[in-house]
Amino acid sequence: MEDRTTLRAELRREVAGLCARFPDDYWRRLDAENEYPEEFVRAMSDASFLSVLIPEEYGGLGLGVVEASIILEEVHRSGGNAAACHAQMYIMGTLLRHGSEEQKQRYLPAIASGELRLQAFGVTEPNSGTDTTRLQTRAVRDGDEFVITGQKVFISRALHSDLMLLLARTTPLDKVERKSDGLSVFLIDLREVPPDQFSAQPIETMMTHHSTTVFFDNLRIPASSLIGEQDRGFRYILDSMNAERILIAAECVGDGDWFIERSTRYANERVVFDRTIGQNQGVAFPIARAYANVRAADLMRWQAAELFDAGVSCGAEANMAKMLAADASWDAANVAIQTHGGYGFAREYDIERKFRETRLYQVAPISTNLILSYIAQHVLGLPRSF
Ligand SMILES: Cc1cc2nc3c(=O)[nH]c(=O)nc-3n(C[C@H](O)[C@H](O)[C@H](O)COP(=O)(O)OP(=O)(O)OC[C@H]3O[C@@H](n4cnc5c(N)ncnc54)[C@H](O)[C@@H]3O)c2cc1C
Repeated sequence: MEDRTTLRAELRREVAGLCARFPDDYWRRLDAENEYPEEFVRAMSDASFLSVLIPEEYGGLGLGVVEASIILEEVHRSGGNAAACHAQMYIMGTLLRHGSEEQKQRYLPAIASGELRLQAFGVTEPNSGTDTTRLQTRAVRDGDEFVITGQKVFISRALHSDLMLLLARTTPLDKVERKSDGLSVFLIDLREVPPDQFSAQPIETMMTHHSTTVFFDNLRIPASSLIGEQDRGFRYILDSMNAERILIAAECVGDGDWFIERSTRYANERVVFDRTIGQNQGVAFPIARAYANVRAADLMRWQAAELFDAGVSCGAEANMAKMLAADASWDAANVAIQTHGGYGFAREYDIERKFRETRLYQVAPISTNLILSYIAQHVLGLPRSF
């Protein structure tokens, strides 16, 4: 236990050291130019932080979601944004737990060394929204291949990734017993896709997130791209989704701490009416409340991460951690804007950038309403609403 605590503290220090090389003006410039943080992602990869979950036998660090969450938390606490590369960590779960030995040997060492990027996760579609089981992208077996047709939307980093994990329907909805049956997961090598069968168009969003609309036009992929058994893919991606929620919660905790640190610093420095604004309880109390909310959310994040690593079912905890942390970081973001007055809106203070970035987590990867609905139905036993 002592070793684990020391290792985590060391990891935190190392990540903070790396992030110090990417200060506010680095992120501000990328945001203004809508650029991908290539240099930062390369540095994270070179430091092995992006291969934290890959077992040592495949060249990774062989650590757990707890350690992965520490890495992402520190990036956000530094004022950076891990959205450019965080998916690599949670997508990995599906490959690690359900991929064949041949798939793991083929991809994991190359991902661990940074030669390959696995950063695109294709689930959301224009016509199915949050109702994932109604997705319409089809994958039909044809000899040694699958043929994929359909469209995905908001697929982040598709233009910056070598590999994409895709969820597609392999058995039509009217032919399955449960609507979550008949979906399959594929690992697509984007380096091999012909441009007339696959394309990705950028979507401009309120913060830089490198999202795309992706079109599959009879894309032929080898049958060996299928992960696990055909038609059982929905269960496989649930593993990734719980890890994703915990990791996003950790990013929100990092964001929350960043907002609180900036608010506290400014409230101690800014003098109005001959006194620092922090002397006014109307300024200090919202910061104190935001701090308490972040700490409470952080406890739920730790509980969820530790359950995940112990292999214990943690759907409720992962969802609650994500919701509480997203609420806490959004609350802290609002407090930071208010504390900074007009300067909260000025680009050079970075508050407005982080404010835009942390707002996303009320909606993606799962919206707050859907988490509340999960808790109501699956934890409290209230009636299904959909
Ligand atoms: C910047 C960005 C990056 C993203 N990256 C990815 C990615 O890499 N891969 C990927 O697959 N997806 C990605 N997404 C998609 C994201 O996961 C979805 O936008 C999100 O899950 C919500 O789905 P939707 O947009 O279809 O909203 P909808 O499902 O259309 O819902 C719209 C609103 O209605 C509410 N709502 C719907 N049904 C109910 C109900 N029954 N009860 C109460 N409220 C309800 C929702 O909570 C939401 O607020 C990204 C989105 C964004 C904005």
